[in-house]
Amino acid sequence: MKHVCVFAGSNLGAFPEYEAAARKLGSALVARGCALVYGGAKVGLMGVLADTVLEAGGHVTGVIPAGLVAKEVAHDELSNLRVVDSMHERKATMADLSDGVIALPGGLGTLEELFEVLTWTQLGLHAKPCGILNVRGYFDQLLSFLNHAVAQRFVAREHRDMLLSEVDATKLLDRMEGYRAPTVEKWLDRETS
Ligand code: AMP
Repeated sequence: MKHVCVFAGSNLGAFPEYEAAARKLGSALVARGCALVYGGAKVGLMGVLADTVLEAGGHVTGVIPAGLVAKEVAHDELSNLRVVDSMHERKATMADLSDGVIALPGGLGTLEELFEVLTWTQLGLHAKPCGILNVRGYFDQLLSFLNHAVAQRFVAREHRDMLLSEVDATKLLDRMEGYRAPTVEKWLDRETS
């Protein structure tokens, strides 16, 4: 993976471990020569991650909609800042520019971005590995819910398993490097329904 897209909270979260995890991920990316693609903001875990990569001499591309440049305080020291017209264009551009996607802890924006990428993989629109950094068990209930969705036959096990989860950034990147997307039909009972 030459370019990794990271979704992350525009807030820092309640515990210092979240910020520490953003720093560790930034260092791990630079250590293996991966450039960062992210939402272009200076705030929250997004800003911490970008600063870490820049400080370590890595390459950072930010993609931010014009309407959010002031609100999210666009980072003005990135290797490359792309100002786009809409949220939709932001997500499509971030996905196009990257070979894999990671979510750090974050809020509604982070979750929305993560699930959009997963649904694109599920439909076979791309085959990029997708992982979460489960810092302090932040995503535990989300993973439980996805297992519930599988048990209730709304999600195929293979599609739930597309979401790789690790606590350690290097381990997650290793798993993503070896990942092959499933080629499973999205509809569980299509012949019978
Ligand atoms: P949050 O996780 O809510 O703190 O937001 C993290 C990032 O996701 C911020 O850069 C938000 O602007 C972004 N975001 C929020 N909603 C969306 C959306 N619908 N599409 C793309 N990015 C979004």
